[in-house]
Amino acid sequence: MSLFKTLFSLVILTLFLSSLNAHNCVHDEMEVTLKTTAEDHRHKFFINHAATNYQPIRIAFDYSNIAKASDDMQYYIKEILMPPVQTYFEAALKVIPRSSRLWVEQGFCGAWATIPSTATDYGYEGDIVIFVSAVSEPSASYLARSIPCGVDPRTGRPTIGVIIFNTAYITLDMKSVTLEGDFSTTLHEITHVLGFSKALYAKYINPDTLKPLTGHIFNKTVNGVPTFVLNVAPLTERLRAHFNCPTLEGAYLENQGGSGSFGAHFERRIFFNEFMTANDIRDPRFSEFTLALLEGTGWYKPVYAMAEPMTYGKNAGCAFLDSPCVNNITKKASFKEFCSPLTSVGIFHTRRAFGVCGMNNPRASADLVSEFDYWGNKTQVVDPFADNCPQIQASAEFDCEDVGLQESALLGSYEFYGIGSKAFMGNLAAGNRYYLRTMGFCFKTQCRKDSSGDYQLKVFFGNKGSATCYRAGAIKPWSSNFDFDNDFGGELQCPDPNDFCTQVLSEGYCKGMCYGNGACRQDGCHCYEGWGSYNCALRKLDDHSSRCKPNSNYTTSYGDLCVCSPSNITCQCALGRKTGAECLPQNTTTDNGNTNPNPDNGNTNPNTNPNNNSNGVPVDYTMLVGGILIALVVVILLGLLCARSMKKRLNPEEGNPHSAYYQNQSFHGQGIL
Ligand SMILES: [Zn+2]
Repeated sequence: MSLFKTLFSLVILTLFLSSLNAHNCVHDEMEVTLKTTAEDHRHKFFINHAATNYQPIRIAFDYSNIAKASDDMQYYIKEILMPPVQTYFEAALKVIPRSSRLWVEQGFCGAWATIPSTATDYGYEGDIVIFVSAVSEPSASYLARSIPCGVDPRTGRPTIGVIIFNTAYITLDMKSVTLEGDFSTTLHEITHVLGFSKALYAKYINPDTLKPLTGHIFNKTVNGVPTFVLNVAPLTERLRAHFNCPTLEGAYLENQGGSGSFGAHFERRIFFNEFMTANDIRDPRFSEFTLALLEGTGWYKPVYAMAEPMTYGKNAGCAFLDSPCVNNITKKASFKEFCSPLTSVGIFHTRRAFGVCGMNNPRASADLVSEFDYWGNKTQVVDPFADNCPQIQASAEFDCEDVGLQESALLGSYEFYGIGSKAFMGNLAAGNRYYLRTMGFCFKTQCRKDSSGDYQLKVFFGNKGSATCYRAGAIKPWSSNFDFDNDFGGELQCPDPNDFCTQVLSEGYCKGMCYGNGACRQDGCHCYEGWGSYNCALRKLDDHSSRCKPNSNYTTSYGDLCVCSPSNITCQCALGRKTGAECLPQNTTTDNGNTNPNPDNGNTNPNTNPNNNSNGVPVDYTMLVGGILIALVVVILLGLLCARSMKKRLNPEEGNPHSAYYQNQSFHGQGIL
């Protein structure tokens, strides 16, 4: 028993520590003197910026600085990561195009990038050139970092930048959740280069006069802590509307972290999963706010249809922005965006995942400033950027969109892990039992309006049946489904269907808005020719045989990762692709790559049960261990008494279908564990 407890403590401690290892952005720790590039004269003729003068931004990438990385890494960066990021910005941002080529002199970006001779001799066709570099720094915390190093002399608009990938943290596992994170990080870093950078704030202009803005960034004390506020018109207006706070003075920037985070990101406390917050987060959203900030630079016209919806803090009011998140007397959360009590379990606000409130394991930090000491004992939540406010931390181990977690689903094939699946709470358990504690589950859902205009939420239990939520509260799915009578017991916690159907399932939302490579429709992305996958982020270029070299690995443009030996090809197939020597489209009736994700797609990452203790969320492990003992006892007793009774179908109407649970509870009470 003591050994078990020790192991348990170690697992929790490890998870707590590992949850601190999110990749921080160190963007502004990079120092460079901004230089001006050769003047582009076009702006002389376009002082009055008519909308028709704007064209999709052309970003040129130079890959000469990644030549020393492995072939697989080079392929991943050039052919998998960068193309959808490039098409996203082309679709999302318009600029007045440069009229001349971009030439870059040797040493232009200091030590951050080696400028190849071609850059001096031939230059680049584009509005900005970004040098892509790769290093391996396992001891550093960043996945990628970036910096602008050249601007146009007349407009101040960035023309040259660098992005550096830390290959120590690039896994090449091709899981959809990994790709999503890597795409988000790359978009994040390039957004810094394009304008969201302390080095560039002073360069922002009024697009009609080309005069630099003044007074648009200032310091304000928020909740007792100095905070930079960025006030550019389109951003402030959109924030006021979103938060329903007409007096808001601008966007609150990150007020914690080192020089790489402070003042160079949106504040995590109020922007939470916006992708321009200071470190990586589950379910990142490329929101209208970043696009509005880029419009506020005076250099770009955004296409707001490319923004992913943000619901966090919607209509929360000025108090949400300007007052403490926790009541220091009751110790309870002051707004629904925050949670209490600490360590309780809950659902991430987009219902992407199950998680814990603030932290797994409370700890005190002597460095905590008094303004953030809500509990009076220096307790510090795990997120270093949220002003110590408790938010449901979505764990990678409970991500409903991670197909690799399907095998650990508590209800097996009654649950679904994959794109579009949503997290629910409840105490459902297989085999006519239920859990003592609230657990997390992942199900597919569907919304429909009834005749009165209210929404109903249908929850699917794999392909075996469904239950409908008519209002918030607990339901017993098995009691109305004869097919489930003997399969599982317990309750499912229904969310308010109206909230769920209007906020969680936001209309018109597609992942990355199909990265500009497809049309976003109600049933997801419909990819244009040449692009595939559920989010249209992967190019269709390869055939396997032409890329296969003996004893080497390669990734296809669909995202399949293949290992070639002289006589064999073995592929780990990407989402929506059939497992096999050569990954084939899963749905042969669809050739646009918009196939449904399938849990059996060959993802072979180590599986862990998303609801057990080894994943850091409290679970009644006494039940798990006790359950095994109970199962043994029950089997023996039943075997001795009557074999026929083991086959008797337990009906919820007759007797108690959860007797095993109660026996288990009494075992615990007798101190068997
Ligand atoms: Zn950053």
